[in-house]
Amino acid sequence: MNQNHLQKETDLIELAKNTEICKKCKNLVIGKGNEKAEIMFVGEAPGANEDEQGIPFVGSAGKNLDKLLEKVGLTLNDIYVTNILKCRPPENRNPLPEEIKAHTPWLVKQIDEIKPKIICSLGNYATKFFLAKGNLENMDKQEGITKVHGKVKEMEFNGLNIKLIPLFHPAAIIYNRALIVEWEKDMEIVKREISQKTLF
Ligand code: URA
Repeated sequence: MNQNHLQKETDLIELAKNTEICKKCKNLVIGKGNEKAEIMFVGEAPGANEDEQGIPFVGSAGKNLDKLLEKVGLTLNDIYVTNILKCRPPENRNPLPEEIKAHTPWLVKQIDEIKPKIICSLGNYATKFFLAKGNLENMDKQEGITKVHGKVKEMEFNGLNIKLIPLFHPAAIIYNRALIVEWEKDMEIVKREISQKTLF
């Protein structure tokens, strides 16, 4: 790793740490999986378990994500998993605009390094972030996850051609049977997209 890279990393950490949530969290939660993966999953923010362990999606939402991955034949070796926010908002409240602003340069850097071909955005925040192409001012203008889930969108994000697959957040389906049906259908779409020969 060269000096510039290190400098950039330090800047990102400083940026994130300037947010109030980062002063209160136990661990920064950066990501897990394969940094050379062609598929990236992006959630919202770490919860209590993730904060405790410093690893994304290790709590109950993570269990649903694991089931999803198993169902479509993916392991952590095939994907990289991260979040919009790199530390836990208190009481798991929604991310604030200034937190999204401070933390997403880090996400953009992760995408820049990993160069995924497919990004599965989990829930409203991640989906709107990508639909707005990272322009935070436009996030509110994007359609919500109920409308766009399972609709594959080919797009350019930060100079990279990606296929965005918006999915319900795995935490949203825990108590909602109707969403589970939709979620299962969306899994078939993920499966179809990753089985296309051009991907690997
Ligand atoms: N929910 C998220 O969005 N991310 C996690 O890491 C855990 C729960």
